[in-house]
Amino acid sequence: MTRTILKYVALIALTLLFSVSSASAQDKIRTVIIDGQNNHNWAETTPYLVKILEDAGIFEVDVATAPGKGGDMSKFNVDFSKYDLVVMNYNGDRWNPEMDKAFVKFVVDGGGFLSYHAGNNAFANWPAYNEMIGLGGWEGRNEDSGPYLYLDADGNTVIDAVEPGVGGDHGPQWAYPIDVRAPEHPIMKGLPLRFRHCEDELYQRQRGPAHNVTVLATAFAVPEKRGTNRNEPLIITVPYGKGRCVNNMLGHAGKQLESVDFIVLFQRCAEWAATGKVTIEVPEDFPGEDEPTFRKLFD
Ligand code: ZN
Repeated sequence: MTRTILKYVALIALTLLFSVSSASAQDKIRTVIIDGQNNHNWAETTPYLVKILEDAGIFEVDVATAPGKGGDMSKFNVDFSKYDLVVMNYNGDRWNPEMDKAFVKFVVDGGGFLSYHAGNNAFANWPAYNEMIGLGGWEGRNEDSGPYLYLDADGNTVIDAVEPGVGGDHGPQWAYPIDVRAPEHPIMKGLPLRFRHCEDELYQRQRGPAHNVTVLATAFAVPEKRGTNRNEPLIITVPYGKGRCVNNMLGHAGKQLESVDFIVLFQRCAEWAATGKVTIEVPEDFPGEDEPTFRKLFD
């Protein structure tokens, strides 16, 4: 009798083990990174982004590479129905109209969208795209692109539709501290309220429709580094339809993508955009206020 029960228990345990392991493969967040054109070295950065996501253990990552500048965009179509998350490492020629439409439908229907660094330079004249990123820069952006959003000295969000000027600017790179502005947001929860980012560009004077923007993180753009003397938003979220959009402006090139704060924030932004939750924990090597920390991702 006891032996029969034991056998039965063992059988249940085996079944559970099997179903858990097969479910975890199915449950991975299906991700596509779009690259192929960028005023940055996308061929260098995409492998870092793939590695960062795969190291988290919960993403399955494809890369969709568009034709080069001036190429035939009519043949570049991503089947968004295969994915939970789109990562934008692209700025350049406008996609074809079907691809535009399919992307909007993907996000409206609840897909996750993560714009990485200069992904928010793309498509200055595409209203839906600018709604999703909330704020963008360069490619001719100015006061006609929307207000300039920053945080004042008390941490209040200012949406300045009066001041004219460029959309998008940065001074020389420096290792600035990042301030958490939404400590209860799943992406930011558990992080130190201020931590040191690596030497990187600090995007400032970003402009856009700025509708329903939640500012998760800012950095103070010091005048000594050609900064605006204001708290500039560097990670924001925007709802669009049923979709969650995250605009993460950090990470100019490969060396910045080895800083631990970038790695952890990128993984968390990606998970939240896709699922609305964050399970990725804050690691021991996450930086404090004084020094950035690094992980070697490639030999
Ligand atoms: Zn850059």
